[in-house]
Amino acid sequence: RKAEAEKNRSVSNLRAAVICVLGHVDTGKTKILDKLRRTSVQAGEAGGITQQIGATNVPIENIKEQTKIVRGISQTEFRIPGLLIIDTPGHASFSNLRSRGSSLCDMAILVVDIMHGLEEQTIESLNLLKAKKTPFVVALNKIDRLYDWSTMSRKDVRDIISSQGPNTQNEFQTRTKQVILQFAEQGMNAALFYENPDPKTYVSLVPTSAITGEGMGNLLALLVTNCQSMLAKRLMFSEELQATVLEVKAITGLGTTIDCILVNGRLREGDTVVMATSDGGSIVTQIRSLLMPQPMKELRVKNDYIEHKEVVAAQGVKIAAKDLEKVIAGLNILVARSPDEVEICKEEVVKDLARELGRIKLQDRGVLVQASTLGSLEALLEFLKDSKIPYSSVKIGPVVKRDVMKASSMLERENQYGTILAFDVKVERDAQELADQLGVKIFQADIIYHLFDQFTAHREQLKQQLRQQNKHVAVFPCKLRILPQYVFNSRDPIVMGVIVEDGIVCVGTPICVQSKEDPSQFLDLGIVSSIESNHKSVETARRGLEVCIKIENAGDSAPKMFGRHFDEKDMLLSKISRQSIDACKEYFREDLIKGDWQLMVELKKLFQIL
Ligand code: GDP
Repeated sequence: RKAEAEKNRSVSNLRAAVICVLGHVDTGKTKILDKLRRTSVQAGEAGGITQQIGATNVPIENIKEQTKIVRGISQTEFRIPGLLIIDTPGHASFSNLRSRGSSLCDMAILVVDIMHGLEEQTIESLNLLKAKKTPFVVALNKIDRLYDWSTMSRKDVRDIISSQGPNTQNEFQTRTKQVILQFAEQGMNAALFYENPDPKTYVSLVPTSAITGEGMGNLLALLVTNCQSMLAKRLMFSEELQATVLEVKAITGLGTTIDCILVNGRLREGDTVVMATSDGGSIVTQIRSLLMPQPMKELRVKNDYIEHKEVVAAQGVKIAAKDLEKVIAGLNILVARSPDEVEICKEEVVKDLARELGRIKLQDRGVLVQASTLGSLEALLEFLKDSKIPYSSVKIGPVVKRDVMKASSMLERENQYGTILAFDVKVERDAQELADQLGVKIFQADIIYHLFDQFTAHREQLKQQLRQQNKHVAVFPCKLRILPQYVFNSRDPIVMGVIVEDGIVCVGTPICVQSKEDPSQFLDLGIVSSIESNHKSVETARRGLEVCIKIENAGDSAPKMFGRHFDEKDMLLSKISRQSIDACKEYFREDLIKGDWQLMVELKKLFQIL
């Protein structure tokens, strides 16, 4: 069947190209999508666009209308039937459009704010696009914010730019050069689309404004011409089914449904579909109905769908069927055409899921991560990696008791990692109760940054707790020189002026001196109970300060006396131990500077600590 499907593909029967929008937050991704949709509607009756499930279908008639303003467009032959633009911008939906490791997104729009250039998530998007080898064009957005910009609608963006005043053109050129340079730093050639020497090796930049609509015609024209010239083979319609689950959604009156993007082939009512489930297995079910929204109307009633007997690629469609609750978004839908195909399909979807999860590298210690879709899981993991938060386990689906048990075993190893980050998934009530009992933290959010903030706040709180608990174990290193003219009390308690020769002395630091008779022995003087600097009580004093300290006998030996047991030729040293060094390393690393650590090493040798 596969071979036959392949044989029947032809350049005269292309499908719509699937387009995703990616880029940094606030660059205008949503606005660009809105503008593409809205102007499409305004572009008139001729081939009105259709709102689909999870995507907007812009037919070629409509694109022709919108690109009329583009210079030289009349020479272009439009061969693809249109563009299927995915409605939700971002990493997660891009990642959900996957098929056996590669992406079902044919071409992406990477949005860059011309005023900001390449930003953190732009680079992340770039890496994602590179990894999946997905071609893309750059919308160099917000040109209307350039100095003294004058808006001209319904013109080719090249003419709009050349009609701007000299200062505006200057700024445009400078900023564009900067962006091109930033692309070069990422190892990529980029050029304005009308200066692009080779669209196969140079990324095209299209100046746009999602607010005024300037450049949008050029953007559409470029998408179409690039798709046709670079992807003609890929866009030949195939009867071999290629469909992916974008989202699993409960809809009143329909139960759990799945929104899917059908990239190739066709789906029919009654088809037997097979999909992977979050428990690592699969489900087999019959399509009860194939649903699409009502065509664009002034007032569209929510959840007012039209049923279709058959849907042909490329389109976005909602599938209603039984038993869809555990389906995983981000994986393929297979159709079993005969009963003996069912088993083969089941095996394949299970393998597919195992392969995708198997590629994720886990750490021995780390948080547990759960997400609603493979794409959102990937987006979250990418973020955690960048934030240096390790993860020890991943799962798609709601948090259940078993997950909490797993987290609690991590809790024993390292407190902070006894944590579940639940991204856009439910937490079952008994799971939450168990977590409360066992001390497992569950953080739940549908925005990655919120999860991150909750976790880092939690981690900080744990850290402070541990510091508090270990405050008395950790001894900071110090070396104090006695100022003999300022000895106020020579024993029990010792009160004297000292200069901090090295390190840092703190209230609570145990103090000793080297024995004169046996240099391998040390006399314990007691513990610093207060420090005064300029007649003010302080908690710590660093190298170079002159302070007055009070040392109280710890009570485990007879009080020592200045002048008899030790004198001004002796250095007062903090008494460190293996345990105190470990506690400093673990909980107070950032409180100590480089010089302190050097002193720590010196003392360690002196005390012959292994
Ligand atoms: P997203 O986070 O990338 O989806 O960005 P949005 O589409 O939500 O846009 C972020 C902000 O930038 C909003 O306030 C938009 O109105 C504004 N914005 C988007 N595109 C443009 C543009 O071309 N020009 C100007 N001046 N503002 C824009």
